[in-house]
Amino acid sequence: MLILAAVVLVTVVAYNSWLYCWGRCTLENLTRLSLPGGLLLAGNGVALAILIFLKMAPTHRLALPRCRCGVPIEEDWRFCGHCGADLKKDA
Ligand SMILES: [Zn+2]
Repeated sequence: MLILAAVVLVTVVAYNSWLYCWGRCTLENLTRLSLPGGLLLAGNGVALAILIFLKMAPTHRLALPRCRCGVPIEEDWRFCGHCGADLKKDA
């Protein structure tokens, strides 16, 4: 998960560098810069959204309830697969 987030981060940095270079190279023609620049910014936004989603996902998994033995409990478990404790709510 962390490696995937790092790859996305590197992609965002690469896009930013490319966008900066493009801006420098075509500074004399700003009207033609607007379309590819906007597309690159949109790509950055999508990449950032994916990065935020990837950062949120592990936090959600840590919020899972845990058995008294410390093993994370899945929603459909009736008993702990590690220690065999009964996990029914009315038990
Ligand atoms: Zn357990």
